[in-house]
Amino acid sequence: MPYQVPDLRYPYDALEPHIDEATMRLHHDKHHQAYVDKANAALEDTEWEGLRPKEILTQLDDLPDDIRDTVRNNAGGQYNHCMLWRNMTPGGGGDPSGALGEAITSTFGSADNLRAEMKQAGIGQFGSGYAWLVHDGSGLAVLSTPNQDNPISDGKAPLLGIDVWEHAYYLKYQNKRPDYIDAFFHTVDWDTVAERFADV
Ligand code: MN
Repeated sequence: MPYQVPDLRYPYDALEPHIDEATMRLHHDKHHQAYVDKANAALEDTEWEGLRPKEILTQLDDLPDDIRDTVRNNAGGQYNHCMLWRNMTPGGGGDPSGALGEAITSTFGSADNLRAEMKQAGIGQFGSGYAWLVHDGSGLAVLSTPNQDNPISDGKAPLLGIDVWEHAYYLKYQNKRPDYIDAFFHTVDWDTVAERFADV
């Protein structure tokens, strides 16, 4: 079955004032849809059609040369945005609890320190990309990736990603990426991050 943009689990305006309704509509309905359409067009009638983005993104080297970059960018766009919508929730934010909270405190010292590290990773990502909290096989780590690359292609498990493409924040925050990242943390659904952490 071709990829589809999943419906949001909350109304477009539910993340206000942190993430505004106009940005959510454009980001979900137009930007995410464009990745899906391009991924589907590139994969149609190939042996890769029907594979989940996760399966494709962990074997990019095996893709034919003529579609590799297109699929990397657009199957990546599908995977990253599906994650993104699930990583946000109305009334989100605060600090993670349970095993995830303990691991974050143990690794970074505090949830505040984790947020500061992710913010620096997001600010430091030149151009478009993502800041990530990952499990790299030995423990938690923060990193950034360009474009629609996902740490899963490097064998790392993505737990939380912040989209730092301008389309994610420019309508409301203009050039103030740091302010957007601060606001994003007020929407984080730590429960879904904890579910991913439990699956590592
Ligand atoms: Mn995006």
